[in-house]
Amino acid sequence: MTDNSQKNVDLIIEARWLIPVIPRNQILEHTAVVVHQGSIVEITPIASARALYAPKKTVVLNDQVLIPGLINLHAHVGMTLMRGLADDIALMPWLHNHIWPAEQKIVSEKFVRDSALFGCAEMLSGGVTCFNDMYFYPQATAEASLQAGMRAQLGLVVLEFPTNYANNADDYIEKGLLIRDAWRGNPLLSASLAPHAPYTVEDSTFEKVITYAEQLGLAIHTHLHETKAEIAESVEKYGVRPIKRMANLGLLGPNLTAAHCVQINDEDLELLRSYRSHVAHCPSSNAKLASGIAPITKLLQAGVNVGLGTDGAASNNRQDVFSEMRMAALLAKATSEDATSIPSMKALEMATINGASALGLEHQIGSIEVGKFADLTAVRITEVETLPCFDPLSHLIYVCGREHVSHVWVAGDLRFERTGQQAGLFANIEPNELKDIVLLWQSKLNQHKA
Ligand SMILES: [Zn+2]
Repeated sequence: MTDNSQKNVDLIIEARWLIPVIPRNQILEHTAVVVHQGSIVEITPIASARALYAPKKTVVLNDQVLIPGLINLHAHVGMTLMRGLADDIALMPWLHNHIWPAEQKIVSEKFVRDSALFGCAEMLSGGVTCFNDMYFYPQATAEASLQAGMRAQLGLVVLEFPTNYANNADDYIEKGLLIRDAWRGNPLLSASLAPHAPYTVEDSTFEKVITYAEQLGLAIHTHLHETKAEIAESVEKYGVRPIKRMANLGLLGPNLTAAHCVQINDEDLELLRSYRSHVAHCPSSNAKLASGIAPITKLLQAGVNVGLGTDGAASNNRQDVFSEMRMAALLAKATSEDATSIPSMKALEMATINGASALGLEHQIGSIEVGKFADLTAVRITEVETLPCFDPLSHLIYVCGREHVSHVWVAGDLRFERTGQQAGLFANIEPNELKDIVLLWQSKLNQHKA
């Protein structure tokens, strides 16, 4: 029943529990999020929302906690079909003997499009609404991401050596900037320049990247200090550690997101802090490739903004931000010998608002606040394996997994829903489309398996 004093809106979500992330340290109960034209217009007790608004649709979440959509701050979704291609191998032989040769033989625009759609489906069903990517053929990733209805910042990858995608550094940059022009203005997409790593990109190319980033106002996304070998190689070739080399070149700054930062000494940490660069912590990938454990407790204490990334499915095998939140919290406690390091709220902040800040999108996403896009994830916490529940926040980090995600909205549009024990349904991806992708590529990739 509506009356004339009620305001018409698109959607009301009534949540048993709601963790807005900002304001910090709040767990609201019986709270409604009012959504209109993709944005959050009010957060208010359910009874008040029912009195004030006439929604086109109401979704009642009696068993769920509603959180901001998760942000995957370091991904290569175009590699999703390489999941499990080569495991139990260190980074450099893994890259040189397995991943790069397979990429040379198989990577095409079609491969990246199919891989990225698969990756987007995986992430969306795990509560991820936004990802920060870096891979060849970013136009194919953009297409897949838009089909899935996700938000993405797509890295225009830059390397020195030729691949199926481009011939040399200038070619990568030129192709990337042309591609970026095609999706400019799309509210779900933004771009970064993505020089792959200090060990694959020369100084002169970094200088060009910095110039374009400044001129075009673009973010920069790179891999940095992932392994001890990378640092030793840099000291031998350039006389300095990679972070110092990047600082000397002018790459460090508030528009830089550096993935990994595993091997960090006090001087490296001070450089990241003073230039206000962001770190994408990828604990599972770092552990699996035996790169080490990033000193996140120290980075956070120093005030460095740290978000969470899965890295690609070839080095992590799960593009699952719930796993990364749990892994980050547990590893921080184990390595600092301090059980208070990365408490639940901090882990959730890393996967939401910290990621948004790194992408320069903290005024649009990363928390449930009036005026922000309604990028929202609902997580069911009343299953047998999640009961009893004394604290829904600690449950999110230490109990729940991505299989407990029940609803995912991006800009107020329902993009994924999983009710009861049934498989989830995507708004824009047919289950058969995903089956066909695996049928097509698995046998081809099998030939490249170790
Ligand atoms: Zn990576």
